[in-house]
Amino acid sequence: MTRQEAPVTPPVVLAIAGSDSGGGAGVQADLKTIEAGGAFGATAITSVTAQNTTGVESTHVLPTEEIDAQCEAVCTDLDVAAVKTGMLATAEVVELVTEQVRDLNAPAVIDPVMVAASGDRLLASEAESAYERLIAEATLVTPNADEAAVLTGVNPESEAEAREAGERLVDAGADAALVKGGHVPGDDVVDVLVTGERVETFRHPRVDTDATHGSGCTLSSAIAARLAHGDDLVDAAGAGIDLLGRAVRYNLDVGEGPGAVHHAV
Ligand code: PLP
Repeated sequence: MTRQEAPVTPPVVLAIAGSDSGGGAGVQADLKTIEAGGAFGATAITSVTAQNTTGVESTHVLPTEEIDAQCEAVCTDLDVAAVKTGMLATAEVVELVTEQVRDLNAPAVIDPVMVAASGDRLLASEAESAYERLIAEATLVTPNADEAAVLTGVNPESEAEAREAGERLVDAGADAALVKGGHVPGDDVVDVLVTGERVETFRHPRVDTDATHGSGCTLSSAIAARLAHGDDLVDAAGAGIDLLGRAVRYNLDVGEGPGAVHHAV
C-alpha cells in the first residue's frame, strides 16, 4: 500500500478577473502564475472573452449575482490569504468587487485593467470613476502609464511624474501604488513603487519583444502570491518585477498574433 503523504496547505490567492480563452492573460495567466508561485489559485470570473493572440472577438460580462456567488463560495470555505483583481468590465462589477475586497480583509492587489494590448476595451469608460472606491481598499494598485493617467490625471512620462501619480493613488487611500513603465518609451523600463513611507524605483533594460500579452496579469498575480506567502510589500513587488523580467524573455510563440509572456518561469 502506498503511504499517504502529509497534506500540504498552500496559501490561497483569489483572482477576481476575466477569462481569456487564448490563455495568455486574464484568469488563465493568473492561475498559472499563482500556482508557479507556490500558492493555490481560486477564481471569481467576471467576464468571458472570446479571444486569441490576434485580438478580442467578443465579451460577455457575467451577472453580478453570479460573480458575488463565486466570491462567497470561495470565501466561505477557503482561507483566502490574498486577492487580486483584473478585468472588471463595468461599474456594477467594480462596485461589487469593492465590497468583496473590503469584507475579505486580506492583502489586495488591484490591477486596474482598462484596455487590452490589442486595443480592445476591457472596462466601460463610464466605469473608470468607480475605481476610486476600490483603490481605497487596495494594498497595492498596479496601473500602467495609461491607467495611471486616467485614475490620477497625471500622465507619468517621467520618473518624477510616475512618483506623483503614485502619490495621488496613495492619497486616494491605497497602501501603495506601483506605476509601471512598460508603456513609456525608453531604453530602460522604470517601475516606481510609492508607499506611505518610501519610494522605490525598479529599473531594468527593455526586452525587445511585442509578446507582452498577459504581462500585467502575471505581475499582479506574482505579487499577490508573494503577499499570500507573507512577504512584505516591497519584497513582493521586487519579486514580481523580477519574475516578469524573466517572463517576457521566455515569451511563448503560440498563435498568429504576438505571443504571450511565459507565466511559469
Ligand atoms: N484580462 C483579460 C480577460 C484580458 O483579456 C486582458 C488582455 O487582453 C487583460 C486582463 C490584461 O492583460 P495584460 O496582462 O496584458 O495587461
